[in-house]
Formats: sequence, structure tokens, C-alpha cells
Amino acid sequence: MQYADVIVDIVHEKLDRCFQYKVPEGLQGKLRAGSCVMIPFGSGNRLIKGYCVGLGEECKFDPAKLKDIAGIVEQDAGDEGRSIALAAWIKENYGSTMIQALKTVLPMQKSVKKLEHRIIERKAGREELISMLGECQRKHQVAKVRLLESLLEEESVPYEWVTGRLNVSAQAIHSLEQAGALRILSTSSYRDPVKVKASDEEKKHLSDGQESIVRTILEELNAGESKTYLIHGITGSGKTEVYVRLAEGVVSRGRQAIVLIPEIALTYQTLLRFYKCFGNRVSVMNSTLSPGEKYDQFQRAKTGEIDVIIGPRSALFTPFPKLGLIIMDEEHEASYKSEGTPKYHARETARELARLSGASLVLGSATPSVEAYYRAKQGEYGLFQLKERLTGGTLPEVEIVDLREELRSGNRSIFSRKLQELLADRLSKGQQSMLFLNRRGYAGFVSCRSCGLVMKCPHCDVALSEHGGDRLVCHYCGYVAPKPSVCPECGSKYVLGFKAGTEQIEQKLKELFPGVRTLRMDRDTTGTKDSYERILSAFANQEADVLIGTQMIVKGHDFPNVTLVGVLAADLSLGVNDYRAGERTFQLLTQAVGRAGRGEKPGYAVIQTYQPEHYAVVAAAAQDYESFYQEEILYRELGGYPPVHHLLAVQVFSPEEKAGEKLATALAERARKLISDRKTLLLGPSPASIGKVNDVYRYVLYLKSPDYQKLIEIKDQLEACLTQLQNTRENVQFDFDPMNFL
Ligand code: ADP
Ligand code: ZN
Ligand code: ZN
Repeated sequence: MQYADVIVDIVHEKLDRCFQYKVPEGLQGKLRAGSCVMIPFGSGNRLIKGYCVGLGEECKFDPAKLKDIAGIVEQDAGDEGRSIALAAWIKENYGSTMIQALKTVLPMQKSVKKLEHRIIERKAGREELISMLGECQRKHQVAKVRLLESLLEEESVPYEWVTGRLNVSAQAIHSLEQAGALRILSTSSYRDPVKVKASDEEKKHLSDGQESIVRTILEELNAGESKTYLIHGITGSGKTEVYVRLAEGVVSRGRQAIVLIPEIALTYQTLLRFYKCFGNRVSVMNSTLSPGEKYDQFQRAKTGEIDVIIGPRSALFTPFPKLGLIIMDEEHEASYKSEGTPKYHARETARELARLSGASLVLGSATPSVEAYYRAKQGEYGLFQLKERLTGGTLPEVEIVDLREELRSGNRSIFSRKLQELLADRLSKGQQSMLFLNRRGYAGFVSCRSCGLVMKCPHCDVALSEHGGDRLVCHYCGYVAPKPSVCPECGSKYVLGFKAGTEQIEQKLKELFPGVRTLRMDRDTTGTKDSYERILSAFANQEADVLIGTQMIVKGHDFPNVTLVGVLAADLSLGVNDYRAGERTFQLLTQAVGRAGRGEKPGYAVIQTYQPEHYAVVAAAAQDYESFYQEEILYRELGGYPPVHHLLAVQVFSPEEKAGEKLATALAERARKLISDRKTLLLGPSPASIGKVNDVYRYVLYLKSPDYQKLIEIKDQLEACLTQLQNTRENVQFDFDPMNFL
């Protein structure tokens, strides 16, 4: 006998109330999680609609009292049906329960509290504001300039927006209030996050490249196609303008658009362009909104009050009645993959949502993910290239410095001679510099300082990690080797793990240039979101000569006075025990190099590395995506890594080392038996690269296959046998095509 769990009410907080029904013989095999069913309900056995969220053999109630499911309803195309279908797809493809998937897809319903909102309103007249603006510009008070400029444009702006997106400190606001430029008002009712009126300002004349993208996509959408497109265009090539025009085209046809932008990249300028076009028909979602406010946004979308929503990953689930377009800017960003359960990727999920809605999906990036570019090359996605910067400004000149060479000529400093020379020059000219420490790889990969050789696993071609000072371990397959005392390549005894932090760099810099004003940005100095903004805004205000930081500093704001970027140890991220190391390195370096020379003055970038010949380093220095991709895809093909093949990570967490290892081994044994073809491979189990976190031991095994469906089947079967193998204290998670490695 088969039993089905059915929910009758599709609202977030009622999802946990399931009713169990019997599956009559005629329906067995046809019913799946996600199916819409008719069921007899209540004492009168009134027939109502419900959704099946799970199937099982086990009866949780008195079998005599259970009723039969009356029938399956063909999925209706309405909102509800679409959400259920999307949740079913997520459940299937990422391995979660139907309830977890539904909770992801459905908006959280919370009572909407009337929150206190503050807004900043223009108080002084235009003339007066313009003269204040002039004064602030003279004094280089860049934050105040930004606020005054926006007040000249808009009568009022929300307080949080000014402190958050606009990066203006409370102090600066207060001082402008004192000066009579503005007043701060409180409102107790919910307001639009931003109040800007749509303006019919003169439309930019699109470049030929932009024009053809907009035309092609809208024509194909009109013809009823639901396709995916990738726009590969360098920063400043006009992608955002294309997004705005596409959204406009879709909205004018009576449909709606979702615009996904990683939170960190969501700038004031970008938002303003959407507001200029859509006025109060656009809404913004970000992490500072409360669940109530988010729910409110979703309601407004549902009832047709807005046409466009802009936000991070979760904005994807905005319930628009006639979705026509999904845009995903900075498509390569790791934040598009959810780290919670279900571990869905927004790109693939957007693809499915677009299919269900008959919408177009447009991906954009200056450094596309290898996945997206591969699909585009395979012809699955339409590919567009935008190669010119529309704003002028030149690409920085880039020099690669060979750190082995520096060592040979007796320079043991973390700064190469070239970098020292350029830093001195910038300091003397009053220009700013950024020093970027590529800190991914902190996990402790080991390399030779004389020849640059990285110790790698002979089976996996990924870097080995140092354990306990004397062993090297592969976290894919479990291979272990003693740490060599001399380099196998050149015999040097400088075989070391690399460990330099931003603090150390700051200290060395101060020794080298006494009196230099520095700001430091890393996980230690940015405990709160506020401090992140504060550091950036202090740097923008030119309160420091040098900003030192980890990957955090390569994104977000433009600093026109920065004319030098130094990348210290570019290859650190190449050492990470992760097949995406090359891709991440290329993206980080390309972004870092692009930080120099955004203003009028030309920029210069220095990339210090032990592997000057590595393709990711060379291609990033040349800002040449295509040549990077050609090398990278070859490596993925040879190694059987995504996107050519797929990877399923099975992660075991346990408070007891032995028990965790035992479970991981048992799962690996099962998995081995489940593999029925030659193309599917099992790797591991092995301890995770960080083997223990908060006293929880972590093990991982990987399954690799060209066929995603095979991995889903294996996952389903492993999951099915978990109840027998697992103690209650262990936790097992599945991650398809993982972005982060344990
Ligand atoms: P991206 O999103 O690729 O970084 P943007 O769309 O932000 O590029 O465009 C970069 C700059 O060029 C912006 O200042 C924008 O206003 C301007 N711009 C975009 N399209 C055009 C155009 N067709 N004509 C003139 N300027 C443009
Ligand atoms: Zn060596
Ligand atoms: Zn290995």
C-alpha cells in the first residue's frame, strides 16, 4: 500500500500540516510529489483541491480511517500550479523534501508591522544646494557630494538607502542637516523603498551592439520562444542599459520582469536607472528588508502594483502573474548558489521558472561562469558580446611580477620592487592605491618558493592541503603523502604553506612608508554590514592612501582616484583544493585589475605571482576571457568536472569522528554498488578540507557523471537507505555541482 502526504492550503506557514491519504491502485505510479490532487475532505467528504508533497509506504494513522485520493488534476498553469511545479523541480534536482522546496518558493507570510521609516527631504533651495555641493567638491567630501547630488535630483530619499547604498555616514547627514540642506522625517506607514518619479528624459541612442541584442530577444519572446541568452560584456559596455530596455519592452507588452543582481553589486546608479524608467512600478528587495516587508513586496507583485523587481537570489520567487523576463546580472557570482537547504542554483532554477512561464532568461557578466559560456558555445544559450567601453576610460596597463625572480635577486619583502616603486610614486602624487590579498587558499596549500611548484594530488590534479605540519592530504579522494622536505622539482628547501594576512601587509607597508594612511578590510574589520560600508566610504572620501583587503575590495564602488592596484600572491587561489580554482582566480584578478583607472587618470596594475605562466594569471592580465576559457574547458574535460560532467557531493556531519567515518564509508559502499555504468565515478570518502568545525567532524564523498539524471537516481537511493545507516546525531547533505567545497 502507498500513502500520500497532501497539503490543502498553499500558504507558507500551513505547509507543515499534511494530511495522509491512501493512493488507490489506479493512481500508483502516476502520482508524484508536486501533483495536484482532488481529495475528500472533512466529515462531509467535500471534494477539494490539494497538493501531494510526499509518498511513502508507512501509514502514520489508523489505516482504516484513511481515505482514498479521488483523482489527479492536470496541472493548471495558474500561479499556484507554477509554484508547485517549480518546487517539485527543485526537490528533484537538488535533493530536498517537497516542504523545504515549497518554503523556498513561497513567500514567507508574516504580519506586516508598520515600521518606522525615516526619509531625508530636501530643505534648502536648489541654488543653495548647488553652492553647498560646490563647496563639498572643493573639500573632497565625496560622501556629502553624493548625497547632495541625489537631493538635487530627488526631493526625498529614504534614510537607510542613503546610509546603505549611498554610503554616507550618519555624521555626514547630520552635518548637512545642521547646515540647513535637508531635514530628516519619520513616517510610520510603509513606503516604497525609494521614491523617484519616472522621467521621460531623453533616451540614450543604443549602440549597434545593444540595439541588436534588445531587438533579437524581444522578437524571439514575441514569437513565443522561451530562450536563455548570455551577454558577455566588459564593465561599462552597456549591459545595464540593455537590461532596462528589455524590461521596458516586456512591460509594454503587459508582462513583468525580475532583475537579479548580487547585493554587493547593487549600486545607487544602477537602481536609479530602473527608477527613472519605471517609477513606482519597480521595487527593490534586499537583505535589510524585514520578512514582513518582503512579503509586502510579493503581494504588490501578485496584485499587479509593480512590474519590475530588483533583488538578490530570493527575488526570483516573486509571484508575478505574467512573468516575461528574468535578468541575472553578474551571473558568475557564487552568491547565486544557495548554501542552505535546498542547495539550489538560481541560474538553473531561473531557467526552469522561465520555461514554466514562457519567459526569456538573460544572463550577463564581464567574466561569465564556465558553465554559462559552455552552454552558450554548445548552442543552448544565445550568445552576445559587447566589447567596447561606452564611457571611455582606458583599461589599465598590467604587469606580471615573478616572485621567484624577486627571491633570487634577494628581495624577501611581500612587495616586489616594481610595486614599491609605484606605491612611492602614487603617495607622492596624492593618488590612491589598493592592495589586494587573494586569500582563498588560506586552507593551507603548499608550494615551493623557489620554483613555484604546487604540491598536487596525482589522482585529482588539485592542490594537496597541509595537515598537522607533516602530511599532505587530497580532499577529493583521500590520498595522503608525507610533506617533502625538499622540492621534488628543484631541490629547494623552501617548501612552505603560504600564510600572510592583511594585518601583516598593513604593518609591512607602514614600515616601508612611515606615515602612510591605510584602511584595512577583511573578515575581522567588517563584522557588520555597516562597517563594510564605512570603510568603503572613508576610502572614497580619501581618508586613506591605501586600502588593503581581501576579495571584498574588488567589487562595488568605483574609486576614481585609484590609479594603482597591487595583487599580492595572485596564485594563492590557484592552490585551493577545488576544481574551480582557475576560474575564481581569473575572475578575481580580472575584477581587481579593473579597479585601477576608473577615473580620468590612467591606471596601472601589478600582479605578483609564483606562477607567472599560469593561464588564469596571463589571461587576466591581458583581460582576455576567450583564451582563459579555452584552457579552462580543456582542464574540465580532462578532469571530468562540471560543466562537462556533473558532480554530486555527499557530505556527512557527525559529532563523533568514528561514527562519521563509518557512515561515510557505508554510504560510499552503497554508492559503489549503485553505479551501473563505466562513466560514473566514485571519489572518496575523505575527511573534508576543514575536517572539524565546532566539534563536528565532516566527511565527504563525490560522485561524478556526465549524466545528471544518474546522480539524482543515486542520491534518491542513498537517501532511501539513510534511515538504516544513520544515527540520529549524524547529518547527511547532498550538494549538486557544489560551488563551495567542504
Ligand atoms: P555595464 O552594465 O556593462 O557596466 P552600463 O549599462 O552601466 O554598462 O553602461 C556604462 C555607461 O555607459 C553608463 O554610464 C551608461 O549610462 C552609458 N551608456 C550605456 N549605453 C549607452 C549608450 N547607448 N549611449 C551612451 N551611453 C551609454
Ligand atoms: Zn622547487
Ligand atoms: Zn586526489
